[in-house]
Amino acid sequence: MITFLSGGTGTPKLLLGMKDLLQEEEIAVIVNTAEDIWISGNHLSPDLDTVMYLFSGELDTGKWWGLREDSFITYDALQELGYEEFIKIGDRDRAVHIARAKLISEGLTLTDATRLLCRKKGIHAIILPMCDSEVTTMVRTPRGLSHFQEFWVKYHGEEEVLGVVRECSTHPMATDKVISVIESSDAVVIGPSNPVSSILPILECGGVREALSEAFVIGVSPFIGNSPVSGPAGVLMQSIGLRPDSYGTLEVYEGLVDLFIHDIRDTLTIPDSLTTDTLMVNPEKSRELARFILKLINER
Ligand code: GDP
Repeated sequence: MITFLSGGTGTPKLLLGMKDLLQEEEIAVIVNTAEDIWISGNHLSPDLDTVMYLFSGELDTGKWWGLREDSFITYDALQELGYEEFIKIGDRDRAVHIARAKLISEGLTLTDATRLLCRKKGIHAIILPMCDSEVTTMVRTPRGLSHFQEFWVKYHGEEEVLGVVRECSTHPMATDKVISVIESSDAVVIGPSNPVSSILPILECGGVREALSEAFVIGVSPFIGNSPVSGPAGVLMQSIGLRPDSYGTLEVYEGLVDLFIHDIRDTLTIPDSLTTDTLMVNPEKSRELARFILKLINER
């Protein structure tokens, strides 16, 4: 089995290639939940949703979130009533958020709720939230602290970033299932996700770093040169004192990764790292990067 640490865009692009090359049952994905948010009483878990929809074959791979060809009847009707949600949630996507909220309100953990939703959607990959307690990435801007989703979706990531704070009432602990998939994997891949808002929250869960230290870990950079392929990784890295590039990414993963891959277009020279084309602009490019990584794992 191979385990992936994932956010909601870069690593899912890699998983798109992986799922064509591996049996789904051989894939486990530990997913960031620090971007989760309750909206209109329902539970959005943006990264879990994206990974689930990827494996169910329903993901809108134009946007890398939401369901393909979803309708927006409820969103529009709410707007007519003068109630504007700041995320444009589709109807079938909303159904998942309603079901998740209901399962959690009935006392299920997020892990069990996810397992049930995956079963309903016929998913065979193991998809695990990083923990079962609530953790939220807050972005400090001149306006004050904003939920990551507000910073990125409502304010379009345009505000100056002064820092990043993780809010939680109890220190998040990795679930037993998270630790057990890491321990039973042939390799763990830290995909090309945002190091600050997607990967660090997973690494901060109690037990994850210790489990990874015993595993064969490959890290993939989400940067090409001084820019991420998409999203706010650059400003978030700088706000916590890190370089917005592959060096900065490796610094986040220092001591954890056995192999580090960054893009062939990078002009940086990083000792002992590997370079290849990491830009996944279509499914074949995703498969190419997946093949490159699987070869490294098989040759180990
Ligand atoms: P989020 O939860 O939507 O922020 O998604 P992730 O954290 O999983 O992914 C965001 C990161 O993916 C960004 O930092 C991007 O630079 C990176 N990314 C997106 N597409 C690609 C790609 O094709 N190649 C690489 N190397 N990184 C990518």
